[in-house]
Amino acid sequence: MLAIRDLHVYYGGIHALNGVSLDVPDGQIISLIGANGAGKSTTLKAIMGLVAKTEGHIYWDDTDITSMKTKDIVGEGIILCPEGRKIFPDLTVEENLSAGAYLRKDKSEIAKDREWVYSLFPRLKERTWQLGATLSGGEQQMLAVGRALMSKPKLLMLDEPAAGMNKAEKQDLVKLITKIRDELGITVMLVEHDMDVIMTIADMIAVLNYGSLLAFGTKEEIQNDTAVIEAYLGNGD
Ligand code: ATP
Repeated sequence: MLAIRDLHVYYGGIHALNGVSLDVPDGQIISLIGANGAGKSTTLKAIMGLVAKTEGHIYWDDTDITSMKTKDIVGEGIILCPEGRKIFPDLTVEENLSAGAYLRKDKSEIAKDREWVYSLFPRLKERTWQLGATLSGGEQQMLAVGRALMSKPKLLMLDEPAAGMNKAEKQDLVKLITKIRDELGITVMLVEHDMDVIMTIADMIAVLNYGSLLAFGTKEEIQNDTAVIEAYLGNGD
């Protein structure tokens, strides 16, 4: 289980995370929501060791990963699929997937997992030699998720995976994330603005507000939480 304890992150004078504590249960889909600038991406980056933490701790089971290097955090089974589908544009689909397994040495297992990723994303299988840059937006997103899966994560963090997707692509994404939880038992932490996507798949929702955790609960609990309605859900959209 991932446990965040009293986490503070500053960017210069900006106090982006102000004492966040959160227990992320295994094998569930947890969505982080909140207004622009609430600290959602910063939370994911902090878990991944990509921003400096000034106070607090992050535990992964019994291991304190707060000060670990990103590559070691990946080695612990945690991976972030960042916002904006940061795939390698000049590498082929196949090379992008192989890059996701860069910490692994088990060559035959890697090849097997690539086939497994292709079975999850048949569209990628048809495009193994196509350069990343020439894929459609939805295909690039699939490749980004596929590449993240190549590291065999136990915790997969997705930052706005539905951004720029059309309705059909969002439906595919919802199916895929559900499959990742149900068939692979991977815990998924999802930052997403699309409430339809969130309400379809999230088991638990964490609401961030100005760098603090406003609420954490099931969909029903969050929808009925007065503080959340006032701060976030009740603004008419
Ligand atoms: P959004 O929904 O708009 O992506 P978010 O909830 O993910 O927002 P963060 O990206 O975590 O928010 O940003 C939290 C705060 O930290 C914001 O005020 C943002 O401007 C600031 N911030 C984020 N990254 C940096 C950075 N590298 N340097 C300075 N300030 C930053």
